[in-house]
Amino acid sequence: MGIIVQKFGGTSVADAEKILAAARKAIRVQQQGHQVVMVVSAMGKNTDVLVDLAGQISSNPSAREMDMLLSTGEQVSVALMAMAIHELGSKAVSLTGGQIGIKTDSSHTKARIQSISTDRMRKHLEDGNIVIAAGFQGIDDDFNITTLGRGGSDTTAVALAAVLRADACQIYTDVDGVFTTDPRIVAEARKMNQVSHDEILELASLGAGVMHSRSIEFGKKFGVPIHVCNSASFSDDPGTVIGLHPESMDRPVSGAALTKSEAWITISHVPDQPGTMETVFSKLGKVNVAVDMIVQNIGEGGKAEISFTVLEADLPATLKAAQEAAKELGGAEVTHQADVSKVSIVGLGMATQTGVADRMFRALADEGINILAITTSQIKISALVRREQAMQALRAVHSEFELEKPPGDRAAFGDKHTAASPPSPIDIVARLQRMEDLTIENIQLDETQGRITLSQVPDKPGISAEVFEAVAAEDIMVDMIVQGTGRDGQANLSFTVPKQSVAAAAEIVSKVAEQLECGPVTTAAQIAILSVFGIGIRTHTGVGVRTFQALSQAGINVEMVGTSEMRVNVVVAADKGPAGLKALQTAFSDVIG
Ligand code: ASP
Ligand code: MG
Repeated sequence: MGIIVQKFGGTSVADAEKILAAARKAIRVQQQGHQVVMVVSAMGKNTDVLVDLAGQISSNPSAREMDMLLSTGEQVSVALMAMAIHELGSKAVSLTGGQIGIKTDSSHTKARIQSISTDRMRKHLEDGNIVIAAGFQGIDDDFNITTLGRGGSDTTAVALAAVLRADACQIYTDVDGVFTTDPRIVAEARKMNQVSHDEILELASLGAGVMHSRSIEFGKKFGVPIHVCNSASFSDDPGTVIGLHPESMDRPVSGAALTKSEAWITISHVPDQPGTMETVFSKLGKVNVAVDMIVQNIGEGGKAEISFTVLEADLPATLKAAQEAAKELGGAEVTHQADVSKVSIVGLGMATQTGVADRMFRALADEGINILAITTSQIKISALVRREQAMQALRAVHSEFELEKPPGDRAAFGDKHTAASPPSPIDIVARLQRMEDLTIENIQLDETQGRITLSQVPDKPGISAEVFEAVAAEDIMVDMIVQGTGRDGQANLSFTVPKQSVAAAAEIVSKVAEQLECGPVTTAAQIAILSVFGIGIRTHTGVGVRTFQALSQAGINVEMVGTSEMRVNVVVAADKGPAGLKALQTAFSDVIG
């Protein structure tokens, strides 16, 4: 039989009794005929205690010494776990990351795995041992101990499962699995039986926070299904399997998430010409701020407005970088709004269905919630709202899509278009070198779409609901949506539809625009959408910068942008599509998988 990797998080090894309980689980699996590799985190809140201790000694401890310190938490756990297994009469060997041969780069406190040797683990397994691996740590070329970032034991577990070609990777934690949204905010949230890597990636950094994002990236890259289950559950509750498939391809939405502490920054009076995006985002890249929702509004007199969100904690650094960019762009102005939150819905099914966005916007409008900004990716729609309304917004969308019910019990809705096939895992063997590097799966050019833009959209609830309901009523499939409220409190709302539907959509929208007292509607009969997609797009900051840089060097103006965990989508003029594609292929040639 094959290898099973079992990971136990801090709460699952918090005291002697829990350590013994985990040991029994592992022994049981071994007795069923499997080889078992356990990955263990530091006991309870031990890592926090160590961080706190360091803080009492120094306000700025060296990152190398931080890793030396924090790695001890896991070393305590693995030794105790081995003793527990011995006590229960079975064979076990504990190993640190270095002893296993988990090689990382030298970025202390946030190191990335480069390679893992399996020899030593296999030898111990063959000898009948349960191998107990310290999570969260590795070693660099100079034998310095490194750590993978908080929560990194998940990543260790999935990485070991990948290199060992394990049959299963089980993550034991203190929750029953992955929920449709945060159950602390929405009591009705439901445990999903199954969810795709892609969906969870979009949900994870959106605040679902169940697992370390990088561990899911690994799972996707190497095709490892990840089984999340509760270590305290007596019944063998099956938990949630994070794998290739969603719970249902027929229901458009799988989960909803909230990122509470966001801030919205606007740079106005920016010249509408190639290179401005690059100027802004290279400045932000330099201070290592991850930018999320990006919206560009084209205003009057050839001036544009670029707005985006960052985590509120990054606001001071962001404002400084934005000011510098504004200066370079000559007379641009920076304004911002804190106290905003992002509500998102995610689902593989939405890539192929109409009538999803309008339902989300209607649910928000019915609660009197104003949307400051909208961005979309193929499988996600995000709306930025005032923070005081954020929880209400999350509850509203969760209930709109009936996420509290199993997918089969939800009302069918919308029109299904051709189903997208699930992504194929990338060949594992080819990827064992530099395993955590950025991988661009592909760069695509979509020339099937046209654009509709509504200008001077008043800053009040319900407008986007009206617009997209009218469009959905005609069964027109909307792809990208971008809306952002600018400095004067007015917004542009742009979206793309198949080019043969541009005229029909424009007619509908013009009527709605008049009723709602918006400004003129403009259209582009055809545009080109360039997509860069792959694994680690967001965690490797710089993909956006590289994209904008490549386009700017090719003299191509960016009209619309949409980013997500896995994609950067950029709209450019129709005749610039092929040149843009070439520029991006060249720019990413070293990392295309
Ligand atoms: N002990 C580390 C932390 O708390 C790693 C982990 O638990 O995954 O961040
Ligand atoms: Mg943890």
